[in-house]
Amino acid sequence: MDSNLNLDAERAKELRALLNKANHSYYVLDSPEIADSIYDQLYRELLEIENIDPSLITDDSPSQRLGGIPSKGFKSVDHNIPLLSLDNAFNIDELKAWYLKIKKLIGSEDPTFKEAENPQLICELKIDGNAISLRYENGILTKAATRGDGKTGEDITTNIRTISTIPLRLLLKNPPPWMEIRGEAFMPIEIFHKLNLERKNTDQALFANPRNSCAGTLRQLDSKIVASRKLDFFAYSLYLPKNWNPKDNNFNIPISQSEALKFLKNIGFKVNTTSERKANLNEATNYYKYWELKKNSLDYATDGIVVKIDKFDIQNILGSTNKAPRWAIAVKYPAEEKATKLKKLIFQVGRTGAVTPVAEFESIELAGTRVNRATLHNAKRVASLDLHYGDTIVVRKAGEIIPEVIRVIKEFRQIDKKLVTLPTNCPECNSKLIQESNEAITKCINSECPAKIKGLLLHWVSKGSMNIEGLGEKIIHQLVNVGYVKSIADLYKLELNSLLSLERFGEKSANNLLREINESKKKDWHKQLYGLGIPHIGEANAKALSKNFQSIEEIVTTTKESPENISNIYGFGNEITDAIIKWFGNSKNQYLIEELKSIGFSLKKALDSKENNKNKSSNESNLLNGKVFVLTGTLNTLTREEAKELIEKAGGKVNSSISKKTDYLISGENTGSKLTKAQELGVKVINENEFKLLL
Ligand code: NAD
Repeated sequence: MDSNLNLDAERAKELRALLNKANHSYYVLDSPEIADSIYDQLYRELLEIENIDPSLITDDSPSQRLGGIPSKGFKSVDHNIPLLSLDNAFNIDELKAWYLKIKKLIGSEDPTFKEAENPQLICELKIDGNAISLRYENGILTKAATRGDGKTGEDITTNIRTISTIPLRLLLKNPPPWMEIRGEAFMPIEIFHKLNLERKNTDQALFANPRNSCAGTLRQLDSKIVASRKLDFFAYSLYLPKNWNPKDNNFNIPISQSEALKFLKNIGFKVNTTSERKANLNEATNYYKYWELKKNSLDYATDGIVVKIDKFDIQNILGSTNKAPRWAIAVKYPAEEKATKLKKLIFQVGRTGAVTPVAEFESIELAGTRVNRATLHNAKRVASLDLHYGDTIVVRKAGEIIPEVIRVIKEFRQIDKKLVTLPTNCPECNSKLIQESNEAITKCINSECPAKIKGLLLHWVSKGSMNIEGLGEKIIHQLVNVGYVKSIADLYKLELNSLLSLERFGEKSANNLLREINESKKKDWHKQLYGLGIPHIGEANAKALSKNFQSIEEIVTTTKESPENISNIYGFGNEITDAIIKWFGNSKNQYLIEELKSIGFSLKKALDSKENNKNKSSNESNLLNGKVFVLTGTLNTLTREEAKELIEKAGGKVNSSISKKTDYLISGENTGSKLTKAQELGVKVINENEFKLLL
């Protein structure tokens, strides 16, 4: 198997485990552990991997089933008609792609179909609640079920009967023998906040959002509790027996979603009044934009809109996959962002000396958690935001767990407010800050800056490196502040009495910590490398370095004599190699290495380590290992940077000019002299598609 497939299989496995765990917390425990946007992002990644290589689809993949797992506390109910989910679009472009695809599909099924060119749409709000199926027999509610896994749900009839907007008897003179109604049960926002307040006052775990609290409520075994929580319901789908003839009922059988919604209203259901028929995609896009802005004015939660093909006959042509109908798509709103007021800016100095501006603002609730700080990344970012003291800022927590300031609402700025300026001196040690010309980062270059030392020590003791238990931020701050520790090596020279003189240390805890520190000398070679805090050397790169070099001496020699052996490592490029050379060239770091050795660190690969064996196979799988590429002209689907990154990740190298050493010239459109030169030198010329095949 080639290396990419190996990596994909590994990643798919990891994603399956992550998503299945998230599904359990979300659907079974009603207590999500990650934000929906993160779930959606990871789910998409898995789908992409499975799309590229369907052999990686396993039975336990979350893509193979609908999320819910019927709970054991309720009888299970088989759905007569599967209760599906919806496919998602995360932006307007994806909505457009869906529309084009289904138009093609309708056309290919029946080219004479006159609506194939421009099928009528209906837009509805996507209510962020729980799908419920209701069965009426001769007009009487006989069964209510959750979606479960789409085929089997939980019988929650008793609980559903407590929802006053669900009719127990339909307003129909001559009802059909059976009828199925689907819709969304939801908890109004006000009730959700009240419920959480009550739970907070009684020390119970809070619900993350109205959808989870609705799900938790519907699964209550005591229907009195359900009644007290005042859930609500919007009906949006209707299924009738095919041959039903309503005889003396004064209406026609609906032939479209818009007619079905009217019908549902007439027979006694609460139907969301915001739905609108739309003649084309532009109109649907405007509906989305309107509700994206207005969503917070509603007293129930929505997480997007649903665009459906209106006519049932076209819906039938399109049919469904095993997860979702093809004739509908949910267009989700972008991850949450909120406006708040900037209070002040603080400047944090990290272990590399990089000064990160951090905004402190009035606390807000964002994607389920309260936040009052967000990173501004660097000076360039602060400048591009044109940030003034007292500004109203917009903070987002999209895809990322860390909140960030994304823009300023300049309209809210008071005239007398001053532009935010960055410090010229280090906020920790007061030495002059420098800005490296090619980087947006401002740095403190004082190697004795206490903030840098603290950052480096925290990195050294962290899980990925020495994992020294009991040595947290507070102790490190004390050790540096009182001057006991000025470098990593000093940690290993600590004496019992020094620790005893710190706050909250007894003899036992001090001895335990000294033992932990001493034990850490046995940690693996790659963990030692990672802990040194070499720029760009995170855990993965540290592993790669440790696999390629047996010892720190070997790395030092390579930086001096054959640096190309570093840049040839899979995923390493010139920037990383330069950073490594610079780090090892620094006399302070050389001194640290000597000190660590004298303390007892091996700084080399342990004999017979498992790594030795893994090493071989991983190197063999570097597809473009050692191959030298040059790019010319404009590529169709990749930018030069993207192509370069792909080559470097696969172990290849990109040069700017052609020589005899060049293995391939990747030639796009509008090429120049490089192509002629390549032909003269007999260098193999490939186009973008051939390049992709190589990968
Ligand atoms: P979904 O929420 O993306 O959308 C499908 C559902 O929308 C339907 O089943 C229906 O119940 C509902 N809906 C609301 N209004 C509707 C309307 N007008 N017409 C038709 N249907 C309407 O999909 P899902 O399968 O219910 O749940 C998957 C989603 O749940 C994920 O995309 C993710 O956002 C979230 N999730 C999060 C976690 C987590 O850990 N945070 C875990 C699992 C799932």
